[in-house]
Amino acid sequence: MHIEFHGAAREVTGSCHLFEVGGKRFLVDCGLIQGARDAEARNSRPFPFDPKTLDAVILTHGHIDHSGRLPLLEKSGYRGPIYAHPATRDLCRIMLKDAGYLQEREAEWENRKRERKRLPPVEALYTMADAAAALRRFRGIGYSEKRKILPGVEVTLLDAGHILGAAIVILDLEEKGARRRVVLSGDLGHSGTVLMPDPATVDKADLVIMESTYGDRNHRSWERTWAEMSEVFDIAARKPGNVLIPAFAVGRTQELLFAFRERFREWELDRWRVFLDSPMAIEATEVYYKHANLLNAAVREQRREGGLFDLPNLHLTRTAKQSMSINRIHSGAIVIAGSGMCNGGRIKQHLKQNIWRANCHVVFVGYQAAGTLGRSLVDGARRIRLWGETINVEAKIHTVGGFSAHADADGLSRWVSHFPKDVPVVLVHGETDAMQAFQQRLSKAGRAKVHMPLQGVHMDLSSMKMTGN
Ligand SMILES: [Zn+2]
Repeated sequence: MHIEFHGAAREVTGSCHLFEVGGKRFLVDCGLIQGARDAEARNSRPFPFDPKTLDAVILTHGHIDHSGRLPLLEKSGYRGPIYAHPATRDLCRIMLKDAGYLQEREAEWENRKRERKRLPPVEALYTMADAAAALRRFRGIGYSEKRKILPGVEVTLLDAGHILGAAIVILDLEEKGARRRVVLSGDLGHSGTVLMPDPATVDKADLVIMESTYGDRNHRSWERTWAEMSEVFDIAARKPGNVLIPAFAVGRTQELLFAFRERFREWELDRWRVFLDSPMAIEATEVYYKHANLLNAAVREQRREGGLFDLPNLHLTRTAKQSMSINRIHSGAIVIAGSGMCNGGRIKQHLKQNIWRANCHVVFVGYQAAGTLGRSLVDGARRIRLWGETINVEAKIHTVGGFSAHADADGLSRWVSHFPKDVPVVLVHGETDAMQAFQQRLSKAGRAKVHMPLQGVHMDLSSMKMTGN
């Protein structure tokens, strides 16, 4: 009985943990590595295990850094089931299809360049067809429903409160009479978000594997976050212009729409026309409607009274033509579009049309990774390059903190405090600094063993010993 850590080891993407129990092998998560170019290049390296020898995969949630290499697993010969919450399966239908499309376009673009240099073409990491084949392997497991997936392996999913369908995974393992319970946090939600319930608590485990993204800091309070949003709309309304909000299609967009609806009068949103300019976000919103029973109690109450994400002045723009028509509007529009970090998607077009105008406002509501266009705007770039053109930045750039879908350091600490102090904890899914800060915090709180495995480290579940760190 053992685990190998093959992803999100001292980094925040590429989640992938390999378990072996009684000769059966399964993965928890198979995410894409995202970020700088050389980091992303690691996606095309062969897996450090043979996908054909795997017997099952368990997926914690739909985010691409957890699910994005499933089509590659399919392409590499994996033919077993993929277990996930039904809402995760529905979100993956949108996200993996999109990921396949992006991989195909990226290869096409690269090959045009290579052709001019007379270099041999490269193959897409995977295609939309690989994504569709992987999607057929999904098997739904509801929250709190114990399921035996392999001999000696029982799985229970609990609500992680992160995005729709996100799960904490409890593994009850048995090999030759020895039993072990391993609890994986997946990505833990941020308490008090408008849509999601707080993460479920667990108190029994022999080993806890948990994320540590914000292990070194706390988020701004929700009150502060709402006040900041309100202030941006007030400033923006004084001089007519447009407001652009780059947002992730899944989760963040729905949180924003719901907040808009709740504070429609307070923020005087009737002064604006609101555009949701993202086919993916529109589809994801439909999935949120379908699984509205999973949202927090206050939201479910509203659901009974009608829509959750409707606004009287909301325009959903699906086609490219509809999207382009927004270009003619020079004031009074709030445009929500992806991608959240401005490195792709329709938001780039809106930036091109608006960012050189002094009366335009760009509001960042999510994390901006180093190397992205969003990050350079947040860092105060005075000029940006879009499709080879240099454009002056005259717009006002705002960063509204507090919208994160991840637990902060206090939240992580609270969640793990339910386990007895002698239960060993393995930190994954965090940058080294955040992890170290969190490790110190847990040690000070009296937790005896806190590990930070490197990529490829092996942990024996009988002896609880790590090798290769
Ligand atoms: Zn996530």
